[in-house]
Amino acid sequence: MGLVRQVAIIIASISLFTFIALFGALPRLRETPIGWAYRFLRYTIPRWLSKVDLWLCGGRCTAMSKRFGHYVMYERHPLILVFYLTLITGGTYMFIDGAWSYLTSFERIIVILAIPTPYLTLYLAANANPGIITPSNNRTALTHYPYDHINFFPSHICRTCHLPKPARSKHCSICRACVGRQDHHCVWLNTCVGQLNTRWFLLFLITTNLFLTLGTYLSFLCICRVAEHQQMPMAGLDRKTQITIFGIVLVDQTYTGAVFLLASICGVLSYAFTIYHAYLIWAGTTTNETAKWADWKDDIQDGIVFIADMDTESDASSTSSNTDNLPTSSRSRRRKRSSRTKKNKARGARPSEEEDATDELSNWPRKSEQKVMRIDDGEGPETLPRGWLWRRVEKLEEIENIYDLGGWRNLLDVVFPKKL
Ligand SMILES: [Zn+2]
Ligand SMILES: [Zn+2]
Repeated sequence: MGLVRQVAIIIASISLFTFIALFGALPRLRETPIGWAYRFLRYTIPRWLSKVDLWLCGGRCTAMSKRFGHYVMYERHPLILVFYLTLITGGTYMFIDGAWSYLTSFERIIVILAIPTPYLTLYLAANANPGIITPSNNRTALTHYPYDHINFFPSHICRTCHLPKPARSKHCSICRACVGRQDHHCVWLNTCVGQLNTRWFLLFLITTNLFLTLGTYLSFLCICRVAEHQQMPMAGLDRKTQITIFGIVLVDQTYTGAVFLLASICGVLSYAFTIYHAYLIWAGTTTNETAKWADWKDDIQDGIVFIADMDTESDASSTSSNTDNLPTSSRSRRRKRSSRTKKNKARGARPSEEEDATDELSNWPRKSEQKVMRIDDGEGPETLPRGWLWRRVEKLEEIENIYDLGGWRNLLDVVFPKKL
């Protein structure tokens, strides 16, 4: 039992660590134990280590690891992609070497059919154009989504590409291009996940899930068959004895046991990642946009976000009739917010005629029906633009997401993206 417990602890620890590394930075998990653990691992521990390094080696190790970290995270390279391919190829080799003789003919056919799928879908996802915005397709890209005047504003020019930024696009400093409906830069694929390749990215995730599920199931089956073969049948025994026998055979059958552990651990993470992206599609948003919504949520909690609906448009005298005093919040968050607020104010709460004309380019079924604004440090609600009936936003749900057409239509938009 001791061995099984040790193996279970190792599996749980590796899974937890990887989960924190992959998901800890997500805005939704920011104020949860996962987010705290992420910041502890990402910032606190390196800070301690750099102090020790400064004392022992004059900071040389820190400088080297920073350079390597920057290369891995912020430069375009195939290291992670090669690591993934090595993992899949190595795991497949170990499975065939260790478990092949315990498989039935039908199971062998399934394995032969399954082996090419992760390679094929990885190739499709990594090689597809994510939706790079170029001078020739820029005008078309501008027609795909309207500006919501909340997270995306017209007349923004990318400082690197020198092109108007379409709504939902983002400049990727690693790909060195603006990408339509950019979700995130994927280090596994060594490219961005955007408007044109999200469908291949999803297919890649789904086939990886199926591949890992098959690997977990068949290696589990083979371990049970080996136990039977070695005169240790598990049928009819109590659960505790079954787990003990399983643990003994798992360690004895090194290759099959390693595949079982590898496939099950990676499977949990892969499923979690897929569920997260399924949620994003269902909610009509992207990883990039969730960060923007998380900022709005923080500001709503501080009581500095105001909204005016189109149908409450009224004369100047009614402006900000139901607003009250602002609460105070931490200085650091205020500073960060201040720059965002000023940017919004520069745009104005109400789109200009020129901006309206830009919006007309889009044939998206939903248009913005609301005006949303933050107010700056030290300023009261009376500074909000006149001509609208402002009310304080209490919940993020009060702000509409015009990119959300409902789960099914959102999925269709991802699977059949408009051509660039
Ligand atoms: Zn750009
Ligand atoms: Zn990128």
